Amino acid sequence: MALHTSRSKELYDQACKYMPGGVNSPVRAFRSVGGYPLYFKLGKGSHIIDEDGNDFIDYCMSWGPLILGHADNDVVKAIQRVAENGTSFGAPHEGEISIARMVVESFPGIEKVRFVNSGTEATMSAIRLARGYTGKSKIIKFDGCYHGHADHLLVAAGSGLATFGMPDSAGVTRDNARDTIVVKYNNIDALHQVLSNNDDIACCIMEPVCCNYGLILPKKDYLKQVSELCTKYNVLLIFDEVITGFRLARGGAQERFGVQADITTLGKIIGGGLPVGAYGASSKIMAKVAPDGPVYQAGTLSGNPIAVAAGIVTLQKLVPSAYQKLEELGKYFEEQMQPIVSRYKYKLLFKRLASIFALYFTNEDTIISVDQVKECNMQQFARFHRLMLERGIYLSPSGYEVGFLSLSHSKEDIDKTVKAIDESLEIVLR
Ligand SMILES: *Cc1c(COP(=O)(O)O)cnc(C)c1O
Repeated sequence: MALHTSRSKELYDQACKYMPGGVNSPVRAFRSVGGYPLYFKLGKGSHIIDEDGNDFIDYCMSWGPLILGHADNDVVKAIQRVAENGTSFGAPHEGEISIARMVVESFPGIEKVRFVNSGTEATMSAIRLARGYTGKSKIIKFDGCYHGHADHLLVAAGSGLATFGMPDSAGVTRDNARDTIVVKYNNIDALHQVLSNNDDIACCIMEPVCCNYGLILPKKDYLKQVSELCTKYNVLLIFDEVITGFRLARGGAQERFGVQADITTLGKIIGGGLPVGAYGASSKIMAKVAPDGPVYQAGTLSGNPIAVAAGIVTLQKLVPSAYQKLEELGKYFEEQMQPIVSRYKYKLLFKRLASIFALYFTNEDTIISVDQVKECNMQQFARFHRLMLERGIYLSPSGYEVGFLSLSHSKEDIDKTVKAIDESLEIVLR
């Protein structure tokens, strides 16, 4: 069942001459699963086709934005229509108001929103805002949560329950990392300890559901407890909903878990596959943002008409029945996986929340911490990933990443995928 990928290999060799690692974002280079990346020329619905003509059912979905599927007809039409009238003005246009209204109406905690060009920019700006609003300087982040690549967020945890951050990348200074305190996710005591021992903390930033280190769900009431502690210690709570916003529910994890953050960051889905991010909060907090307030933040292409148009159409299509459909599909996937999961008890875990899923090669019977994900067998994942490619299934090329269902995925897609998983596991776990 060998996969013919000679054209991708050729392109990758060329790319390596001109770009570091041949890519514009490291995980794309396939380093953690081995081999070289595939080059894609076409995406439609749940399928993508590479330069060698191999056809895959896609579960990476550009890492989350494509909740409607690839090249949704209405999104494409909107992009074409808007592009013909000018790709960027660097001045206000009506679309910005429509998408801002949609975001504000979907998130009770957001009264005003600022659009930027990536999730990284959104979290970076949200933290500047939190510091500007509170006048305090330190921030708390949680181990395993990813918030893009801003310096003070590229900080890793030490081995303790709560540690002063260490740079997680060359080029990040110790001073930059020093103001970031890293706390264990899903451990409320660790957070309490840090909050009660520091009076210079501006904010706590977290992915309400960890989606960048496998899929780690918050323990029951954990998010509520985090929110209460932040209120008690006068620290702003930032939910990074770049993945979960408009994915777990229209109102993101905040709607799903009934907890409200002070500042919310968004990205991915709200751009409908184009580069976008956003951050929003109450009018009182957002009043600090320039030009109303002293916290400077700007962007040449922010609120770009094409990205905004793709976002508007995407959000318009995310009506309640769309979430129902995604939930049903996710449930179907989980049910079909049940016999396989039972067969490989203590070797494999399948986890799902709404349209997000993860597979772990682990002997644990549940995953609630980042440390458990670290213990998963990534060699087995790499092998599995290759076998799945050979069977026409494209998973994100890292065992730390989740998979995404879209409204374009069908039950037939799931059936084919489960069959491929079954066959691949037979080889990996035999
Ligand atoms: C993807 C992601 C980001 C970064 O967004 P970019 O657009 O890649 O900069 C930030 N936070 C979370 C939770 C993400 O998943």
